[in-house]
Amino acid sequence: MKATLAPPSSLISLPRHKVSSLRSPSLLLQSQRPSSALMTTTASRGSVAVTAAATSSAEALREGIAEFYNETSGLWEEIWGDHMHHGFYDPDSSVQLSDSGHREAQIRMIEESLRFAGVTEEEKKIKRVVDVGCGIGGSSRYIASKFGAECIGITLSPVQAKRANDLAAAQSLSHKVSFQVADALDQPFEDGIFDLVWSMESGEHMPDKAKFVKELVRVTAPGGRIIIVTWCHRNLSQGEESLQPWEQNLLDRICKTFYLPAWCSTSDYVELLQSLSLQDIKCADWSENVAPFWPAVIRTALTWKGLVSLLRSGMKSIKGALTMPLMIEGYKKGVIKFGIITCQKPL
Ligand code: SAH
Repeated sequence: MKATLAPPSSLISLPRHKVSSLRSPSLLLQSQRPSSALMTTTASRGSVAVTAAATSSAEALREGIAEFYNETSGLWEEIWGDHMHHGFYDPDSSVQLSDSGHREAQIRMIEESLRFAGVTEEEKKIKRVVDVGCGIGGSSRYIASKFGAECIGITLSPVQAKRANDLAAAQSLSHKVSFQVADALDQPFEDGIFDLVWSMESGEHMPDKAKFVKELVRVTAPGGRIIIVTWCHRNLSQGEESLQPWEQNLLDRICKTFYLPAWCSTSDYVELLQSLSLQDIKCADWSENVAPFWPAVIRTALTWKGLVSLLRSGMKSIKGALTMPLMIEGYKKGVIKFGIITCQKPL
C-alpha cells in the first residue's frame, strides 16, 4: 500500500532550492507565546541558527499532527464528508440546516474564498494548483474539476494522502489530482510553478508562520494568487503587546487537543506578506459567517451514530470533541477570528 502517488506529469518536483530563513517581524513574536513543548514559536525563531530543542519540538508537533489526522480523518469523513473545514453561512442565519445544508456551506466556503481573492471561473490562467494541508483532498478535487486544473495536495498524514488518492481514483480524477506526504514548511516543489496556492485551515498548524508564508510565496508563479483561510487570534490593539492571560489560556487549551502551535492574527499575516512585497493583499474576518459551524458539529457528535463512531475512533477524536465548546467560546468572546488573507505575486 503506497501512501503517495506520482504527481501529474507537469508537476513533477525537481530538487528544490534551499530557502534562506526569513526573520520574523517583531510583532509576530510579540503576539505569540509558546505554551507547551509542542508550541515552538520562540524569540529566536527565524534566526538562521535554529536550536536543537526547537527542531525536536517542531518534529514532535509534526508527528502529533500526522497521528491526529491519521486517527480522526475517517470519523470526520463518515459524519461530515470530504471537506475538513468550516462552512460559510449568511450571518445571523437562524435556520437550522440539514446535513446537506452544511455540506453546501462548506462548498460555499471554497467559492467565497475564490471570489474574495478575485479568482473567477472564467479565469483560464489557473492551470496548476497546490493544496497546502489538503486533508483528504476535498478542495483539490473541487478546484481541479472547476478549473480543469492540475492540483497537487500535501498533508502530514499518510492516511489522508492515501484516502485522498483513493477518492480521486474513484472519481476518475487521478490524471488531474494527486496527494503526497510533505511538509508545508519545506515543500518538495520547484520555485514559481503554481497559479493558485491554496491553504484552507492548515495555517493554524504551522509553528513558524514566517517560514510558512515564505514557502507559499516561493512556490507561487509570477502573477499567481495565494489564499490562506485560517484560525487566527484577534488583532492586538495599539500598544497591546500580547493577548490577555485568560485569552491565552483558552487558546492553549485548544492547542493541546488540536496539535496547534502559537496562534497569530490576520494583521500578522498581512505584515508578513507586505514584507515580501506581495500585491493586492486583502484580508477579512469571517467569524460571523462561520458561527453556526461548531454548534452543528457538536450536534452531529451527540447523535447515536456520532457517539458510536466517536468511541470507535479513539481518544484523540474524543478529546477533539470535548474541545469544540472552547472554539465556540473563543468566537463568542472575540478571541478567535476566522480569517481569510489573499494576495497576488507580482509578475
Ligand atoms: N484543507 C483541508 C484539511 C484541513 S485540516 C480541508 O479543508 O479539507 C488541516 C490539514 O493541514 C491536515 O491535512 C494536516 O495534515 C495539514 N497540515 C498541518 N500541518 C502541516 C504541515 N506542516 N505540512 C503539511 N500539511 C500540514
